[in-house]
Amino acid sequence: MARYTGPVCKLCRREGTKLFLKGTRCLTEKCAIERRAYPPGQHGPAAGRRRKTSEYQRQLREKQKVKRLYGLTEGQFRRTFEGVRALPGVTGENLLVRLETRLDSIVHRMGFAPSRRAARQLVRHRHVQVNGRRVNIPSFQVRPNDEVRVAPKSRDLTVVRASIEALSRAAPVTWLSVDAEKAVGKLLELPTRDQIPVTAQEQMIVELYSK
Ligand code: SF4
Repeated sequence: MARYTGPVCKLCRREGTKLFLKGTRCLTEKCAIERRAYPPGQHGPAAGRRRKTSEYQRQLREKQKVKRLYGLTEGQFRRTFEGVRALPGVTGENLLVRLETRLDSIVHRMGFAPSRRAARQLVRHRHVQVNGRRVNIPSFQVRPNDEVRVAPKSRDLTVVRASIEALSRAAPVTWLSVDAEKAVGKLLELPTRDQIPVTAQEQMIVELYSK
């Protein structure tokens, strides 16, 4: 299935939660969830009042929420899941760690892009280096002690500068070290579940894919 290119605020409204897909706008009162906290579409307001949902629906929504949060297609998300299925430990947590350590997600968490979508574009357009080499694959897996930097010639891009300025006002995650001035950071260690600031019941995704 092709990548979703429609209005992203609809995705948040569909999932009934902020997915922070639009950078700084998500923190303002212009956020669509603040103004219309019900699903999009003609029957949205009525759907918002509907109470009964099956277990399958809840599992599906949880999967859609996480998939949309990281901006993946169904195929990419499914392959990521299959990639962690056989790993030791808790599969749901491994899934989130695998998603968090994608290069586009790391670039966003380091504050070099206002959203994962913008981070993905930075990577695709070859503005990002890992351990000194340009990498243009958003799904590239960053490992502990890898150094991620915005290429020197790209540091003055407006999107990078604006994002770094906003970063100085945000709470950093402890498993990354960031030198905002040089637009460089390092993955110190793989995060544990409680260090990943994502509200999701990942176990429901495992149950869904295990049917
Ligand atoms: Fe979601 Fe951000 Fe749009 Fe709010 S502004 S609905 S958090 S994408």
